[in-house]
Amino acid sequence: MIQLVRGFRDILPGEIERWQEIEKTAVSLFENFGFKEIRIPILERTELFARSIGEDTDIVEKEMYTFADRKGELITLRPEATASIVRSYIQHKTYAKDPVQKLYTIGPMFRRERPQKGRYRQFYQIDVEVLGDESAYVDALLIFMLVTLFERLLVKDVSTHINSLGCSKCRPDFKAALSEFINSKSAALCSDCNRRKDRNPLRVLDCKVPKCREAMKDAPSILDSLDSDCQKHFDDLKQSLEDLNIPYIIDKSLVRGLDYYTRTIFEIQSRYEGAQNAICGGGRYDNLMKTLGGPDLPATGFAIGFDRLAEISGLQSTDLVKRPDVFIAALGEKSISKALKWSCRMALEGIYAELDMSGRSLKALMKRADRMGAGYVLIIGEQELMDGSAVLRNMKTKEQESIGIEGIVENLKKVLLK
Ligand code: AMP
Repeated sequence: MIQLVRGFRDILPGEIERWQEIEKTAVSLFENFGFKEIRIPILERTELFARSIGEDTDIVEKEMYTFADRKGELITLRPEATASIVRSYIQHKTYAKDPVQKLYTIGPMFRRERPQKGRYRQFYQIDVEVLGDESAYVDALLIFMLVTLFERLLVKDVSTHINSLGCSKCRPDFKAALSEFINSKSAALCSDCNRRKDRNPLRVLDCKVPKCREAMKDAPSILDSLDSDCQKHFDDLKQSLEDLNIPYIIDKSLVRGLDYYTRTIFEIQSRYEGAQNAICGGGRYDNLMKTLGGPDLPATGFAIGFDRLAEISGLQSTDLVKRPDVFIAALGEKSISKALKWSCRMALEGIYAELDMSGRSLKALMKRADRMGAGYVLIIGEQELMDGSAVLRNMKTKEQESIGIEGIVENLKKVLLK
């Protein structure tokens, strides 16, 4: 028996309806805000992720699915979507037509993390990006859209956490202060942190190892080192969130597991999920475009963890599963072949008619209709064919009526639309 690869999973009917509903709700909301869909490839050159996410991050150091293809070129299954969207914007010179692009994409990402509850090696993200706009109001708009989406999906007990990471002008001062603090704590830090602390001290703030978290809890905050432009940007964000009635928490210890962030960063956290409580992460990445060889244009965005969102959404899958409008219990070869034509015509008319072609007994078919939650059962056998009328049973009231075979689709429609 061949089993799934560890950390990968199937999303089965019964569960998928909730995913479909989430996707529909998200797409309709995003489109009302003027976002357009973009589809990017699942495979990219490894260098794209190494340069954007950062060589010293967990993702690039140990989690990417990287292979040499047949010609020896290194390629990687995408661990996130932002880098590819930026690559596409640069490659197609989209900015020449209109620098401001509002895009979304939904699909699988791959990271070889330790599998545990809420953490998969193939997981899905709903990714939204605004390229070419540096305004803090855009960040506020993204957060407003997110909070609205979560409300529509009946997600409860989530909070919005924000922080600023400053920019390349004010961050060096902060990094120096942070490095000094880290060096004073190095004995208490894990080996990864000790290895990364000189090249990339911010990574230490992001370490999930409990003893590192404890050692870093009084670390200096970047919010004390912001220069006047970054301070104004952060103040504008806070003011806009207040104007939009979005409650938020300023979280000085918030950093992100990817190197490209600048200024605004944010997370939506759920109270229920324990270690996996981040449902969505995002922020600005004003330097990424330039780092990847494109124009010096700012950008901002977020990625929602679809798997976690599906888990905490209050949508009930059972309410979303499509039930047959009518289940056709056809008894005998002749009835089945007649009913095949009817069920095809009904589908074209927008009626979901489930035709059981197994030739099993009426008792077995009635049981199946019941299990599927059919509204009606249409019973048709040799006798009914001869009489020119089938039996229609209302599964809720248990009432039965006879329904003419001549013009059966129209006759059925009349009953169903009653
Ligand atoms: P990131 O791209 O790391 O900022 O992650 C954004 C969101 O994706 C997180 O808040 C999670 O909800 C989700 N996510 C990240 N990694 C995983 C994973 N391995 N399994 C499931 N969801 C994930």
